[in-house]
Amino acid sequence: MKNIIVQKFGGTSVADTDKIKNVAKAVIREKNLGNDVVVVVSAMGHTTDILTKLAKEISPNPSSREMDMLLSTGEGVSIALLAMALQAQGCKAVSMNAMQVGIITENVHSKARILEIKTEKIKQHLDSGEVVVIAGFQGITDDFEITTLGRGGSDTSAVAIAGALSAKRCDIYTDVEGVYTTDPRIVPCASRLEQISYEEMLELARVGANVLHPRAVETAARYNTPVRVRSTFKLENLGTLILGVDKMELHRPVTGVASDLSQLRVVVCDVPDSPGTAAVLFDGLAEENVSVDMIIQSYARKALNTNDIAFTIDKTDLDKTKEILEKVKSKLSFGNIFIDDKIAKISIVGAGMIDHPGIAAKMFRTLASLDINIKMISTSEIKISCLVEQSRANDAVEALHKVFGLDSNEIAEVKGDLPNI
Ligand code: ASP
Ligand code: MG
Repeated sequence: MKNIIVQKFGGTSVADTDKIKNVAKAVIREKNLGNDVVVVVSAMGHTTDILTKLAKEISPNPSSREMDMLLSTGEGVSIALLAMALQAQGCKAVSMNAMQVGIITENVHSKARILEIKTEKIKQHLDSGEVVVIAGFQGITDDFEITTLGRGGSDTSAVAIAGALSAKRCDIYTDVEGVYTTDPRIVPCASRLEQISYEEMLELARVGANVLHPRAVETAARYNTPVRVRSTFKLENLGTLILGVDKMELHRPVTGVASDLSQLRVVVCDVPDSPGTAAVLFDGLAEENVSVDMIIQSYARKALNTNDIAFTIDKTDLDKTKEILEKVKSKLSFGNIFIDDKIAKISIVGAGMIDHPGIAAKMFRTLASLDINIKMISTSEIKISCLVEQSRANDAVEALHKVFGLDSNEIAEVKGDLPNI
């Protein structure tokens, strides 16, 4: 039996007909390597934004069912044009939408999760030698309602289809050359990673390296499907392979450094030092869907019997949070509230840090040597984050990138052996 490779091409890769012809070449190239190929595509260029704008011209608040009906058409255009481009280049191909494949989702509009992907029809087409071109982003409910997976959702479609077909690999073709050790706009000597684990990729995705939709990474981890992020415009480059940590060679404790400027810090002073206080405060936030990231409760001041509690939230949740705190005040007495919106969360991520003690100390030492004050700290098994003054964020990223050996001149030596995927 042949290996199945799933290829996904994003909006920029299919932005016009010349680009679509170019994508067809990349598809044929993969097929000529002796693989069965399934292609997942997004809508052309900015189509989804343009359709959204049309809807807003009709109504400020269009129904989510009709929005899904509208937005799902974008991917429909791309699959037909790509199948035509393949046929024109002499390659047997067939386009399929979510209804024809049977991409079954929850009954939720605009952000549905995939429940099941039927594979019979895809396999029949593959068996008759065709490339199957499938619309990303869309799904259907078991009641034949059309749904979409949320913006950026075609990454998830591709990875889920790869999982359902037990594909050898899912290649996400995009306009960047892979996943980098940090943002190359901040650190010009950032290097492209040859490989990264699902867990590390998820942490980096959450702290602002937005190459891949986090849900796509979660889906890949669930099926243990290797994913390559690579450039449509430089086909000879292999990009970055994302895979299970068990298949990786761990050479370094730290894989990437990220900076996140999207949060602010709220400090609630003088809350009572008694059981249930934190529960009242954070229940209030949770009820209104405000997600809290870092939390610090200070050491109780015995004489006053109070604590200070500080936490970080997304900047966009500030007004909601202020309202919630006003309401909470009837159940919980507290003093002043301070808001600090000039902060940055700097994180180092690496599956290898589990086996290397002293990584946190090294991070703190590096920040101290630059006279950068740490306002909050949080850790997970494979991530350490420090909250610092926003004006020092780039200095911190640059220094940490260097001290953990990620600058491109140093990383070249530690590539190691790559698994043959
Ligand atoms: N076309 C959809 C969007 O623009 C889905 C995708 O591109 O992943 O969000
Ligand atoms: Mg996209």
